[in-house]
Amino acid sequence: MGNMLAARLVEPGEPLRIDEVPIPEPSADEVLVRVAACGLCGTDIHLAVDGDIPVAHTPITLGHEGAGEVAGIGSEVTGIKEGDRLALFPSAICGRCRFCRAGRESLCEASKVYGMARDGSLAHYIAAPARAVIPIPDGIPFDVAAIITDGVSTPFHALRGRGNLRAGEAVAVVGCGGLGTHAIMLARLMGAGFIVAVDPDKAARDRALTLGADIAIDPSEGDPAKAMRPQLGRRGVDLALEFVGRQETAELTVRLLDRSGRAVFVGVGMVRPVLPPLISFVGGENAVIGSFGMDLSDIADLFNLIATGRLDLSASVSARYPLAEVNEALGRLASKDQGVVRVVVEPQA
Ligand SMILES: [Zn+2]
Ligand SMILES: [Zn+2]
Repeated sequence: MGNMLAARLVEPGEPLRIDEVPIPEPSADEVLVRVAACGLCGTDIHLAVDGDIPVAHTPITLGHEGAGEVAGIGSEVTGIKEGDRLALFPSAICGRCRFCRAGRESLCEASKVYGMARDGSLAHYIAAPARAVIPIPDGIPFDVAAIITDGVSTPFHALRGRGNLRAGEAVAVVGCGGLGTHAIMLARLMGAGFIVAVDPDKAARDRALTLGADIAIDPSEGDPAKAMRPQLGRRGVDLALEFVGRQETAELTVRLLDRSGRAVFVGVGMVRPVLPPLISFVGGENAVIGSFGMDLSDIADLFNLIATGRLDLSASVSARYPLAEVNEALGRLASKDQGVVRVVVEPQA
């Protein structure tokens, strides 16, 4: 079918290499997607810069937030035609395990994440199983569709699927980067009664206040668990989400809870946070819950929320780069410049 360009990880810490590689041949149950947009996220920094997440093989094409147009169809695929606009679930899920059958694709037992276990979307084309793509409604641009597949669906899954947020509840968001920023927007949309944002960066706190947080606390200026209480009627929150993955932020997240409160950990790492004494944790009927990625239904439902005008993500794509400038794009994201919500690469540009 000819060749294409792909941004490939050869060695962590070195720039991604733009290689000419064969356009993938979709197998019988796959579609070939001409990638229009691929979002970058913190995981890509871990992969490309830090090297603390293992990959199945090198070189490997990175990119797990892809969206584009169908350019080819495997012999067994039905219901999808060339030219269809699709977003890619961040991993090639198996569709057969008990979690896939239950609609809990976040837990797929044979999941192959793009850019870690198989080639990703930072390329002109990607082959993807037809079961792991979601149609994009008219009117949603590819760049917004791309960031929804992970950057927006991950906090949505944490709030709705794992945190069971109910209208009127008080919510805290610890870490207001890309995921946390979207968590604040979504918590507001879902009817949170009060939203507390916690982040040491002033730009991130200001953005949180603009997007729906009622208060924004700088953790370097004292204990947020104490600082929020006067404004919250001297109580804790019902739901607290952790997007950082550090010991101190995980422990803080649990301390923000009121009786009956749930802490949802989204940030990952090797740390071992210490729980409060059982006498208060058990006595308060508290819960600590893990939330990993998203289900297909999270992405589809977010598309509906945008198509109906209830959710506006037009300000979430902070910068767009052509494929040739993928390393500049990664550098922008890694700079911790808090003005950045999400960075997108456009391979066809
Ligand atoms: Zn990601
Ligand atoms: Zn599965």
